[in-house]
Amino acid sequence: MLRKLQNEVRPWATRNFGKRKREAWKPLVGLMEEVGELSHAHLKQVQRVRMDEDHEAKAKDAIGDIVIFLIDYCDLRGWDIQQLVEQTWRKVKQRDYRKLKPKDESDALARKFHEAYERLAPKFGYKTRKASAVSWDDVPIKNKKLMTAVAFEILKQKLQPSNVRWGKAKSRCRVRPTR
Ligand SMILES: [Mg+2]
Repeated sequence: MLRKLQNEVRPWATRNFGKRKREAWKPLVGLMEEVGELSHAHLKQVQRVRMDEDHEAKAKDAIGDIVIFLIDYCDLRGWDIQQLVEQTWRKVKQRDYRKLKPKDESDALARKFHEAYERLAPKFGYKTRKASAVSWDDVPIKNKKLMTAVAFEILKQKLQPSNVRWGKAKSRCRVRPTR
């Protein structure tokens, strides 16, 4: 879609603005002007001023102009806009910002800790408390909150295998402080 558009913008821009003196900074400045127009229209709509004007239509128009200017800019630099967008999108779509939040991860870590703890306890001849020897969802809220807070602290310290050095006794480990 973007490549097709670029192939249409090129002859149109050349016919209208000439072949010579076509420099990339010109559509770049035009692009910035349109970003200003979009901001202006958005702001006025949010502020509910000049309501006799169609701010939404102006914002949409600016979006179209932004893309066209951007295409022209890329073309003058000899870049295939579609390739650039696809390349970046491939990277961006891999990111999961929610997954990286310690709060979300701490819930999952606390749950996993609880499940493993309850599962392993009998093998070590240890009997856990009746109230907590239940599935994670039924663990008393106070316990849950404490365990989640502990998990959060650990995650905050970025405790990762690479930061842990096991000593001779397997039960003792040293944690390298992280910066
Ligand atoms: Mg405009």
